[in-house]
Amino acid sequence: MTSDVLDRFLKYVKIHTTSKEDEKSIPSTKHQFNLAKILVQELKDLGIADTVLTENCYVIATIPSNLSDEEAQKIPIICFLGHLDTSPEESGENVKPQIVKNYQGGDIQLLNNPDLVISPQETPALLKFIGSDIVTSDGTTLLGGDDKAGIAAIMASISKLKSNPEIKHGTIKIVFTPDEEVGRGVDGLDVESLNADYGYTIDGDEMGVLESETFNAAGGDILISGFNCHPGYAKDKMVNAIRILSDLIQLFPVNESPEMTEGYEGYYHPYVISGSVNEAKIKFIIRDFDYTILQEKIQEVKDFTDEIQKKYPSAKIKLTIKESYKNMKYKIDEVPELMEYAEEAIKRSGIPVIKKVIRGGTDGARLSYQGLPTPNIFSGAMNFHSKKEFVPVIALEKSVETIINLIQIFVEKSIE
Ligand SMILES: [Zn+2]
Repeated sequence: MTSDVLDRFLKYVKIHTTSKEDEKSIPSTKHQFNLAKILVQELKDLGIADTVLTENCYVIATIPSNLSDEEAQKIPIICFLGHLDTSPEESGENVKPQIVKNYQGGDIQLLNNPDLVISPQETPALLKFIGSDIVTSDGTTLLGGDDKAGIAAIMASISKLKSNPEIKHGTIKIVFTPDEEVGRGVDGLDVESLNADYGYTIDGDEMGVLESETFNAAGGDILISGFNCHPGYAKDKMVNAIRILSDLIQLFPVNESPEMTEGYEGYYHPYVISGSVNEAKIKFIIRDFDYTILQEKIQEVKDFTDEIQKKYPSAKIKLTIKESYKNMKYKIDEVPELMEYAEEAIKRSGIPVIKKVIRGGTDGARLSYQGLPTPNIFSGAMNFHSKKEFVPVIALEKSVETIINLIQIFVEKSIE
């Protein structure tokens, strides 16, 4: 017996929806419309009349409450979001999903790539899924579980609500966005006109995961202007911007770099340098979960830039630094029930809650600051942006169960 959510998932991953960096248009790639159009049709087939596909490739649907108007008004309008695109870091074209039946531990050999195995040594969480069927790619592409697992879970939940009218629910909104992977998932979305109270992205990560925290982020550059002249006659004249840059780089703390940190640890990250004697430039970013510590890190960069300026008074050193996004936790914490209900929903599905932090930005972070507090609930996809991506079928099913539970918890808590 296959499940509805698995059938949907296998269908969606075969549709090529890779997004593209540095494109001005939304969506960044036209082929994302191919999946969007299918989803619109499927929603209409499910009887969701209020389904639209915007010119920017957003699928937006409203499922009216099946309660009386009076009751429905007491229930917050929840929006579930997933993203259509897959990461440009790996090919997402011609995905051939494979199903490993009844996984019994050990390495999973990917069918069309003899060099690649998914191993429990590398991904210990794999061992939690012994006895489950596991979906992988054939090893030549990514799988696309990020975020087609989320989309499949949302679609299967809606289908379940439609075929089980005894499950009472408030008004529910569905949004499928393009271009999340290139950081532009909400660029073409009018959040206010959605008219939703709260959001949940169903995106990525292991069964049971619930996430409400992202980094606080800042970034900028340091521009060093030196002075060039004939090197044979340069004594006391030349100011070599490259050497000054090298001094500056040393002052970015090595222990607090992306390659040395994990979990709740923040970092400094110089990521591009360019230069000549006349002019050199460092681009960098700074991240921390604690906003006060982010401010301290910003101050630290200002201080050591000043210090270097003092050491080289004849150079001109200009620091530009700007905050880019803020930890969504501050907004989500204003509505404690958002996380409480999600935790309860996961527990009711019979699985443990795994609270994690997102070491990057997400659509949820931007939505939270645009008035739609939006934590993230697991879809079950793991090792994403990689040919070693996989999705345990049980995780897909638990994602659906969690969504249905959550919808019911909102009803229980609002009208009983
Ligand atoms: Zn994702």
